[in-house]
Amino acid sequence: MTTLNPTSSGSTRVPEAPVRRLAILGATGSVGVSTLDVVARHPRRFEVVALTAHTQSERLLAQCRKFAPRFAVLGDAAAAAALQQQLRAESSSTQVLTGPEALVQAATLPDVDLVMAAIVGAAGLPATLAAARAGKRVLLANKEALVMAGQLFRQAVQISGAQLLPIDSEHNAVLQSLPAGFDGDLAGAGVRRILLTASGGPFLRTPQERLAQVTPEQACAHPNWVMGRKISVDSATMMNKGLEVIEACVLFGARPAQVEVVVHPQSVVHSMVEYVDGSVLAQLGNPDMRTPIAHALGYPERIESGARPLNFFELGALNFEAPDLSRFPCLRLAYAALAAGESGAVTLNAANEVAVDRFLRRELNFDRIPALIEEVLARTAAGALRDLAHVLEVDRDARDLARDCLSARGVARPGRVFS
Ligand code: NAD
Ligand code: MG
Repeated sequence: MTTLNPTSSGSTRVPEAPVRRLAILGATGSVGVSTLDVVARHPRRFEVVALTAHTQSERLLAQCRKFAPRFAVLGDAAAAAALQQQLRAESSSTQVLTGPEALVQAATLPDVDLVMAAIVGAAGLPATLAAARAGKRVLLANKEALVMAGQLFRQAVQISGAQLLPIDSEHNAVLQSLPAGFDGDLAGAGVRRILLTASGGPFLRTPQERLAQVTPEQACAHPNWVMGRKISVDSATMMNKGLEVIEACVLFGARPAQVEVVVHPQSVVHSMVEYVDGSVLAQLGNPDMRTPIAHALGYPERIESGARPLNFFELGALNFEAPDLSRFPCLRLAYAALAAGESGAVTLNAANEVAVDRFLRRELNFDRIPALIEEVLARTAAGALRDLAHVLEVDRDARDLARDCLSARGVARPGRVFS
């Protein structure tokens, strides 16, 4: 190992970190764009090998021009062909691929070291799991994948030696507050509880009777974070925190009772770990996803992220309160799904994805999101999961059931609202 002596005179050269090769799944989304922002600050440290997007071909084209990846993946075949033509006309060597197999291919390229999993929803599961099975260091933003297939990820890590580094700010904060080299044994590390902080979202103080009328625009206007639309709605219902409780159980080997949610409206304390001696360790920072992204990209080294330093004099006070489960039933439903059995989390996630999609299309009132999820959970028997195909089958069944529940109430046609 090279040691540096800061007091020695003469030219001391810091050894350069080896270049890390990166694939970004979901490059055009909020997390994907923040990742490229951090990467651009360290051109000698990272090489972008693959970028993927679903429909945003213009944004992907701009990213290809700037980062010159070897592969670009686009969901829509016609858009992919147009992108390839454009890149060829510019003499770019980027090869454009399309289709679900292309996502898995990008996630498992032999010379890729790091895979940023930043696709939203269940759509990201096959490629994210493939990256873990291929032994990659997976920077995990796509929490739905982990919620659906926690056991499969744990197995993949054991067999392939992959590393999962959480990008979700709360879980990244927990990782930073655990002892270095934490091996998944909370009791052995002297940990009593994990305290996940929650902003409470845009409707923390909205009277319950007004929740039926809130619009997608209001739900997506998060007070502290700028994020994709699906996670913004999840934050407004607090299902995001419910998914994060499940995510914490998978990542850190916690029992559900060891994970407590603390509402903290300023989103400065990103989460905490309580030890048996009464110590509580926390990670703080301005709410900027570039901080957890830079932590995971550089791990175990610290690298510049571009995030503004925290100014305690501007902050003044930090507040904490208990979540109100009667106004935010999604959090209660997540604990219930965990207790129901392994497939409960898949059902919860699938019903939530259907409900959020309908809310965003103005076909379902905001306060009916938890009602739909609760109905789907009540009508589905939970049990153990065998493999990825089984997970996807449970996911499909729950989506079908959620749609049946909605059409039974007359919301199959656009414009009709289930209230
Ligand atoms: P986003 O909607 O901004 O971006 C989603 C990305 O996924 C886009 O690049 C899109 O092209 C791609 N995508 C969408 N559907 C796809 C499909 N069917 N197939 C392939 N690609 C598809 O979402 P986001 O806010 O960046 O969130 C991404 C993930 O990170 C989510 O799981 C979210 O919960 C998690 N996360 C986000 C934040 C945040 O600050 N945005 C924070 C913590 C965790
Ligand atoms: Mg989070």
